[in-house]
Amino acid sequence: MTAEAPVVGVSAGAAVHAAAERLRAAKSPSPRLDAELLVGHVLDRDRAWLLAHEDAPLAADAASRLAGLVERRAAGEPVAYLRGFKEWYGLTLRTDRRALIPRPETELLVDVAVAETTRRLAADDRLITVWDVGTGSGAVAVALARRFRTALALGRIHLVASDVSPDALELAAENLASYGVDRLVALQVSDLLDSVGAEAAPPDIVVANLPYVPQRDVDAGAGSLAWEPRAALDGGPDGLDIVRRLLTRLPDRLAADGLAYLEIGVGQAAAVEAAVGLLPGSWSCSITTDLAGHERIVTVSRIP
Ligand code: GLN
Repeated sequence: MTAEAPVVGVSAGAAVHAAAERLRAAKSPSPRLDAELLVGHVLDRDRAWLLAHEDAPLAADAASRLAGLVERRAAGEPVAYLRGFKEWYGLTLRTDRRALIPRPETELLVDVAVAETTRRLAADDRLITVWDVGTGSGAVAVALARRFRTALALGRIHLVASDVSPDALELAAENLASYGVDRLVALQVSDLLDSVGAEAAPPDIVVANLPYVPQRDVDAGAGSLAWEPRAALDGGPDGLDIVRRLLTRLPDRLAADGLAYLEIGVGQAAAVEAAVGLLPGSWSCSITTDLAGHERIVTVSRIP
């Protein structure tokens, strides 16, 4: 404590309480959690520390920074943008308005891609090209690059992360660099799989969390949707415009025995299956359910 930053009589615990009250009044869906995260943020401590140190003093500068953050949260700004990072899949990823905030449900997308990549690594010595299409913050690419660091370094796997937004790719580059895996991932500005052939080999495994929110829901702007880039969310009238566009590219772009894993929203599985049924050739389509019981991942592959 210095003379410039005197204690003004507020403890961390009292600050959490007051912030939670303010956020409850502002109809935040998770006032107590938000308050703990924001108080922890101005103290540069995590929630566990905060719970054990409720009497810790909040210096005047921290209290005034907190007041600003609480007001921004009360106006709806996502905590991940206020803190500038989000914990996801055991990682701490930088988050800002350049890209979608990583969601818990997308951890499943990593799990299915890891399982299939692992299976292929064990099956033979062929190079495996994996594409994270619409990488956004780079979350999925960072998780895959860390999991397969050795195979990537040995040239067994080629990992591409693409996005149509150069701003998002910049954020992805920062996240990859912060985990020391930037040299293991090829970043590309590409509309879906458009740069396949020109700049990259046909993917054996496509992983994609594309925008799939119906336009009217983005317009309604519940929760973080009003703050995140529309281009990362808006999938048109039924949410599936971009997913369908990617599907139509698969016959030309996916390797012969390739697989595509697409994250989808609640209630979209039947429409995606119908779209797969319209692809030229013979395709199989299966659905994986997430921990909440929602149909979440569509797996698409050719039937040999
Ligand atoms: N799961 C996100 C949501 O419902 C949507 C993310 C996306 O469009 N890929 O907010």
